[in-house]
Amino acid sequence: MIVTTTQLFKHAYGKYAVGAYNINNLEQTVGLFRGNLGKTAKNEDPSDSSLSAPFIIQISRGARGYTDKRFLEALIRAADEIFPDAVFAVHLDHGDEASCIDCIDSGFYSSVMIDASHHPFAQNVETTKKIVDLAHAKGIVVEAELGQLGGVEEDVVGSVKLTDPDQAAEFVEKTGCDSLAVAIGTSHGAFKFAGSQSLHFDVLSKIQAAVPVNFPLVMHGSSSVPAEWVARINNAGGAIQNASGVKEDQYFKAAQMGVCKINIDTDGRLVWCAVLRETFRDKPADFDLRTSGKAFMPAYAEYIIHKNKMLGSSGQLEGVRGTL
Ligand SMILES: [Zn+2]
Repeated sequence: MIVTTTQLFKHAYGKYAVGAYNINNLEQTVGLFRGNLGKTAKNEDPSDSSLSAPFIIQISRGARGYTDKRFLEALIRAADEIFPDAVFAVHLDHGDEASCIDCIDSGFYSSVMIDASHHPFAQNVETTKKIVDLAHAKGIVVEAELGQLGGVEEDVVGSVKLTDPDQAAEFVEKTGCDSLAVAIGTSHGAFKFAGSQSLHFDVLSKIQAAVPVNFPLVMHGSSSVPAEWVARINNAGGAIQNASGVKEDQYFKAAQMGVCKINIDTDGRLVWCAVLRETFRDKPADFDLRTSGKAFMPAYAEYIIHKNKMLGSSGQLEGVRGTL
């Protein structure tokens, strides 16, 4: 069942964060739905309610252009039919004005992100407000961003600028956005921290105090980049050096401070890369593309189950359903 992120955040606020996972293809979609319903082996397996979680499917502009956006929309529609117990939002990740308007007009997305954070404050407000007005007229909710994350997102290379708490309050008031992505030390990609640096919880706490009560905050660039998966990639012929991510024990602390949505993209790519490399290494004579796909889907489902436990969203599906 497709819901808005606002519906999910109402239940989550202060208690846990909802996982927001990017998809690009069939195998990720199947692994994602199975994982969020606590299924690892087969579609027909009963859901495990102690593991079932509400979630957010993110489609980036890059994913929409990878083949054709209609393939991804059709995959999600099919998954909604095949997994009728799933409760999720369909969200445009890092939209610009044109892609937001396209998604709002499509009638399929329940949530869009307008990312005008690279513009000066006044222009960010103006662009965001325009998208908020268009989206709200159709019952679609809007995530905006203030401040700048490091790392690479699509074609934008960011230089870090932490979110200013007072500006965040002004921004929310002026734009009417439904949630706000904040820069508190995370970055996009697999190379987030040079040393033992952690998130800026002092800044997060000030932002939470400055914005309206129970206003949902969002963390981008929050993959944990597990050493285990990087090692598996490198042991199977990869060459990823000095990778690092957000420590998973920081998710729950952030959730208690108003972060309702935590974006995970890089980790899913690492799982994909490790499983495919290992499959090709271990079965050099096999050229059936389904061999690696069959190995990936349950591995990704397991990873989603693990991630949801760290976010605190594991076991929350029935609770959310009761609020809809
Ligand atoms: Zn992002």
